[in-house]
Amino acid sequence: MATSRRGATIVLKRSADSSGRRPSAEEWIEIFHARLKERALKSTTQRDEIAKAFYRLARHVSAEELYEEVKRSNPHVGYATIYRTLKLLKECELVSERHFDESQARYEIIGEGHHDHFICERCGKIIEFQNPQLECLQREIAEELGVELVRHKMELYGICQECSSKQASKG
Ligand SMILES: [Zn+2]
Ligand SMILES: [Zn+2]
Repeated sequence: MATSRRGATIVLKRSADSSGRRPSAEEWIEIFHARLKERALKSTTQRDEIAKAFYRLARHVSAEELYEEVKRSNPHVGYATIYRTLKLLKECELVSERHFDESQARYEIIGEGHHDHFICERCGKIIEFQNPQLECLQREIAEELGVELVRHKMELYGICQECSSKQASKG
């Protein structure tokens, strides 16, 4: 999906996009097991269950949201286990932790290519996007500053389409 505005192409990343197929939750579990093995760690049924729920949700999920999701199928899982499993996934380099607007940590799947985020200040919706011009401009700025660019975080905050149309209909 691409929208053009003033010649700039903004590619909206869609989590359900099937072009460039992403691994299924089950495939991710296999990768998780391999990474655990490399680190001489054991997989447990509960860890697998949590990881599977995480990969099924496949979005910028907080530990609490994941907890709510896992609880639906297994009420015995504790919050601490959820938290520890997310940390473990992070250690295995399968999950990255984000802190939007200094709010609670959110976790997303690693390895889907670089992208930036728009965050709706009203409903908290997170939209991923990629913009080649923006990426290029940042490299140019680094060059001008004579610095080496290692990474960047671009977060745009505002009101999403849905929320602004809700506002408009209220009058
Ligand atoms: Zn919104
Ligand atoms: Zn993201």
